[in-house]
Amino acid sequence: NVTIGVLGFQGDIEENVAATRQALDELKIDGKIQLVRYAEDVEKIDALILPGGESTVQSSLAAIQRSLPALKKRIAEGMPVLGTCAGMIMLSKRAFDHVVGETKQKTIGNLDIVIERNAFGRQNDSFETDLKMDMLGKDAFRGVFIRAPAVSEVGKDVEVIARHAGKIVAVKQKNIIGTSFHPELAGDARMHKQIVKMAVEFKRGK
Ligand code: GLN
Repeated sequence: NVTIGVLGFQGDIEENVAATRQALDELKIDGKIQLVRYAEDVEKIDALILPGGESTVQSSLAAIQRSLPALKKRIAEGMPVLGTCAGMIMLSKRAFDHVVGETKQKTIGNLDIVIERNAFGRQNDSFETDLKMDMLGKDAFRGVFIRAPAVSEVGKDVEVIARHAGKIVAVKQKNIIGTSFHPELAGDARMHKQIVKMAVEFKRGK
């Protein structure tokens, strides 16, 4: 049975737990959901979801910093991971901000992208829009953007899976998915189902 971890420090943790529960139910998989807070939790999970919230807060937490090496190693070994909004910032190799320039915040860093924080500006702080993503099938996915980042550069192993207003808003690099928007707030568990399916495969392959 798969165990899906949700990083449990800051941001919309409960919403991601609920969306993961919905995904497991819809897939009729009798899986577990585990909040991840300590390095040893990282060994118990078959996939991880990094919630949105505030990445500068997340990356400054001592407890997260202690878990970073374990997370980095496990993701490098192929454990599936979904980073949403601040969670994608936490996965990115480099983070950039128009106000402060390179943010130098500590990130897990496995996703070979440069992220632009707060990329949609003040006027457009928060908005919703329909996104087309081949990965999720024909129907549009409701993208909920809240002070969202965008991806400004991608490495060679990174596939672009969604764009909005000329900006890259979702990417996939093998076992890693990053979204600028909040799939847990869409009332549509397709993105979470994707990560659950990847977790089942990952577990089977071990
Ligand atoms: N602007 C936030 C950050 O830079 C991300 C916002 C979010 O996760 N909704 O961390």
